[in-house]
Amino acid sequence: MSKLLIVGTVAFDAIETPFGKTDKILGGAATYISLAASQFNINSGIVSVVGGDFPKEFLQTLNKKRIDTSGIEIIEDGKTFFWRGKYHNDLNVRDTLTTELNVLADFQPKVPDHFQDADFLMLGNLHPSVQMAVIQQIPKRPKLVALDTMNFWMDNTWNELMEVVAKVDVITINDEEARQMSGEYSLVKAAKKIHNMGPQYVVIKKGEHGALLFNNGEAFFAPALPLEEVFDPTGAGDTFAGGFIGHMANTHDISFENMKRAVIAGSNLASFCVEKFGTERMLNLTEEEIQNRLHQFKQLTQFDIELS
Ligand code: AMP
Repeated sequence: MSKLLIVGTVAFDAIETPFGKTDKILGGAATYISLAASQFNINSGIVSVVGGDFPKEFLQTLNKKRIDTSGIEIIEDGKTFFWRGKYHNDLNVRDTLTTELNVLADFQPKVPDHFQDADFLMLGNLHPSVQMAVIQQIPKRPKLVALDTMNFWMDNTWNELMEVVAKVDVITINDEEARQMSGEYSLVKAAKKIHNMGPQYVVIKKGEHGALLFNNGEAFFAPALPLEEVFDPTGAGDTFAGGFIGHMANTHDISFENMKRAVIAGSNLASFCVEKFGTERMLNLTEEEIQNRLHQFKQLTQFDIELS
């Protein structure tokens, strides 16, 4: 069985959307990635850090989904990373109101011994130096290393980000971030520039408008499933990344053809994530629901056309 190591924030989130508001709930990039990846038959574990204020039940919730949390350090006299965000009526637009790094500010990650032979590595959104420190602790290079990041790290830690981006196979970022990172408005040109920074595969997430996968000259597009109701988009990008890497780890096939299926798997899981606040929907998801929606995806994208 593949071993997938996930690095990223495990957090408290406070979210406001046009449909409601939450106080501090379970969130964080690594949380969403691992919940999505837990839908596959793989062995996954998280490297992260939380404070003494983080409820033990939240860790147990992840353990119940077969996610190894032994790499989540608990700093008893510290506070957990906290993020507050507010969505506009157009749910594609959100404002970050608060980012409190807290225990993440000087986190030194430690990969547990039993994950040092991980064959898939997902560097979720967090400080690029932490992402780099994790790469350096894995003696044999994993089969596939993917990285997710966001504008916060581009604004604050550009040089460190460029160093780690140079070392990964796949980068997943959203359209706005791809434009910021490359200085190009056209996503095709942006992907080309990002290839030149290191990653062979560039995945650009476009929220409700789907996702693009680029591999030096080749491109693939997957739509997002048109949903009647979107409640809270928080974590959709991370859920996509978790579904993508989870599929790759489960199938052991790192070809471009299989990566297209991974993009569909990620889009499929992300479509569930947005239906409820926070992690709620991902915690109550059945295999049957996942398969049914994959059928819908297939129908949505299949067509016959006669070509001369
Ligand atoms: P997404 O909606 O997929 O972009 O991810 C939302 C998650 O990212 C939330 O659960 C936050 O806790 C987490 N998050 C927000 N800002 C940051 C940041 N600067 N670094 C890492 N994780 C973050």
